[in-house]
Amino acid sequence: MSKNELALPPLRLFIDGEWRGSSDGGTFEAVNPATGTSLGNISAATADDVHAAVVSASRQFNGGEWSRLTGADRGKLLWRLADLVQKDVANLARLEAMDVGRPYGEAFHVEIPLVADTFRYYAGWADKITGRTFSLPPFNGADRFSYTLRKPLGVVGAITPWNAPTMITSWKLAPALAVGNTVVLKPAEAASLTALRLGELIAEAGFPPGTVNIVPGIGSVAGEALINSPGVGKVSFTGSTAVGKHIGSVAAASLKKVTLELGGKSPQIIWPDADLDIVVPAAAISIFANQGQTCAAGSRILVHRTIIDEFSTRLKAHAEQLVVGDPFAEDTQMGSLINQKQLDSVLGYIAAGIAEGAELITGGARLKRPGYFVEPTVFIGTNSYRIAQEEIFGPVGVVIPFDNDDEALRIANESQYGLTAVLWTNDSKRINRFSNDLQAGTVWVNAWGPPHPAVPWSGTKASGIGEDLGLEGLHANTVVRTINLVSSA
Ligand code: NAD
Repeated sequence: MSKNELALPPLRLFIDGEWRGSSDGGTFEAVNPATGTSLGNISAATADDVHAAVVSASRQFNGGEWSRLTGADRGKLLWRLADLVQKDVANLARLEAMDVGRPYGEAFHVEIPLVADTFRYYAGWADKITGRTFSLPPFNGADRFSYTLRKPLGVVGAITPWNAPTMITSWKLAPALAVGNTVVLKPAEAASLTALRLGELIAEAGFPPGTVNIVPGIGSVAGEALINSPGVGKVSFTGSTAVGKHIGSVAAASLKKVTLELGGKSPQIIWPDADLDIVVPAAAISIFANQGQTCAAGSRILVHRTIIDEFSTRLKAHAEQLVVGDPFAEDTQMGSLINQKQLDSVLGYIAAGIAEGAELITGGARLKRPGYFVEPTVFIGTNSYRIAQEEIFGPVGVVIPFDNDDEALRIANESQYGLTAVLWTNDSKRINRFSNDLQAGTVWVNAWGPPHPAVPWSGTKASGIGEDLGLEGLHANTVVRTINLVSSA
């Protein structure tokens, strides 16, 4: 099969190990954003369908085959799933490129391999879930000691965004399953295809039916039913801050556990000692990878005033030679935005930047071709502009000058968000100070890239609550139970 031929997964709901249509026959369309062509109609889960999925997942959790597996057995299934993902890398990358509009090479070389790595990483934890022990002084003359167990939470409701759908699905599924939860997954309506393909691979790996259920559908219907379901013990959400706040409030009312991985407006800070030959292309990747539709995009580019002319000239030249176009062409570096709504939003921000008085040094226009392509765009401006304060989620960076470290730190932290930051310097004193004082879940030093599954991922301020990935992401899918043993004298 050639790179851009498509073998679609079932465009239906995956409930209790079966592929079925929605209870009211409703569907929504999957569209290839790079061409505007339809990829097919996907069954749209109703509240009744979500309920059926939660019942199935609860059955497996409460006494079903899944609940009786050992940690090692769960690890074997996750490892098998990792192998199947690895074998299927070309197909998954193809589905992702067609569904999201991102370059096929990015999905093939970076994202899908990380999906396999994530399942493999958590496969390793599945038989190593331990608590703690406590030696305590006697209680009323009786010996005592206490220990803790980490227990699974039950049914985890996982809700994912469209920008890196396969990778983030693995962030939700792998730790939840490793500790013994079951899952109902609601993928983003703009990019559900790889989640459905994962459903096929989950069945092939041999997970008991109902351990993972997939309910594609509309956020306000299927997502809303999932977050309100009394059968769901935890909601694990990645998406926008606005929807995250809503989910947080719903979860608070029912005291459900939540993890909320939300938006960002991350600073990159560039000092004069940095090697611009390295920094310019790397900083550009941070802004323009996946067309800027990356939560961790380094879209506020703080540059020391003494190098701002040289840096801006070089960034402009670099942006202008980036190849924007067909996601399946070998030399493509940027593909299409996800849909018309996102295009309108990004172009709206570009217009707002110009209206506010920011200097547009390159880009700013839509490409004249079908699909939703926007030129890599760079402004010079100040941190108070909307384009520097709001998450654009498109290929738009704002260069902001600073004169000294105090000012750089102040500007970097003057944001509602706190997801990531990137430091470009070799000065270890500066690195230590900024690593400590920046308000961010992750700080990169002289690099930028996707997180490794072993390393925790989280945001502060409006970027979220709780951790994904690493041991922290595993523990976030458990509840601690304390056992007190007292032996009478
Ligand atoms: P979104 O919030 O619009 O949608 C995310 C998911 O929530 C979708 O599946 C959607 O259907 C669902 N949803 C919408 N309304 C809902 C409701 N009322 N109840 C339950 N679910 C509902 O986000 P998006 O546009 O898909 O993704 C882009 C956002 O995700 C950006 O803000 C980006 O920064 C963020 N993001 C964050 C991270 C991170 O790790 N922090 C990673 C990737 C993306």
